[in-house]
Amino acid sequence: MTSLNKANVNKGTKFIMGKRVTVRVTGTYKVNGEDRRKHTVNCGYICTENESVERTAFVVGVEQPLSEYTGDIIAVIKNRETRKESWVIAPGGFIMYEPALAQLLGQFVDKQACSFICLYEKSCGAVLYTEEFDVRKFLLIKNMSGHIGFPKGHVEYGENERVTAEREVWEETGVHTKVEQGFREFYNYSVNSFVKKQAVYFVAPFKTSDIEMNIREISEYLLVTFDEGMKVLNYPHDRSILSKADKFITQTHSPEGSCCDESK
Ligand code: ATP
Repeated sequence: MTSLNKANVNKGTKFIMGKRVTVRVTGTYKVNGEDRRKHTVNCGYICTENESVERTAFVVGVEQPLSEYTGDIIAVIKNRETRKESWVIAPGGFIMYEPALAQLLGQFVDKQACSFICLYEKSCGAVLYTEEFDVRKFLLIKNMSGHIGFPKGHVEYGENERVTAEREVWEETGVHTKVEQGFREFYNYSVNSFVKKQAVYFVAPFKTSDIEMNIREISEYLLVTFDEGMKVLNYPHDRSILSKADKFITQTHSPEGSCCDESK
């Protein structure tokens, strides 16, 4: 996936995101979504004053067949080989993250040759903890944008949130782990006032001996206690996630906790 936040996405693409346009529909299709249900995609082209410019458009988020539709641009699909661009239009306020869009529209475009640049992005990661030597510590990272947070990254096509979290943890810290059942927390934020991003976090154990920092992904890692973590995490959202994760770990690891019940 190409993030709208990345420097190589041109200003024109950022400028048109969220803009209202009208689509003349030429075909309506039912296709399999990421949720394994059938969804309607209305395909057509953008109506412009200059009718000689014909830009392919896909309307998502409307389940009935359409003939003409006015909605907001939520993604641009760029074919790197032909340099052709298609726009994805949805009703105002309709949210679809890039993996779901790629699943739905990958059936109309050449997925290998296309980049999906989306208004709505999702990253998944994990609150990594260790209880070696009876002291609970958390693994935080300082990422390339300079803030301290949890390891996380973009959901790739075909992945579910847990798989993304486990892959990103491994890519950024070298830790192979499995996220625990029973904890999933998220928050939303805006990046550069363009991208509307959701970060989803799980909880996962790790061993300090497994840490192998990937200098291409992060600039530093920090092994901290809960109190230290609450001081160094830059964003209140992340402090709230750490707090919830710490409570969850305490509960599930207590003698009455569900993780110790062998029957579950
Ligand atoms: P990813 O790790 O998902 O691939 P990234 O490292 O490219 O993403 P983010 O961590 O989303 O990007 O950070 C992009 C910008 O958003 C940075 O300027 C960062 O400071 C800011 N940011 C990150 N987390 C938050 C948050 N919880 N609240 C507000 N702004 C945030």
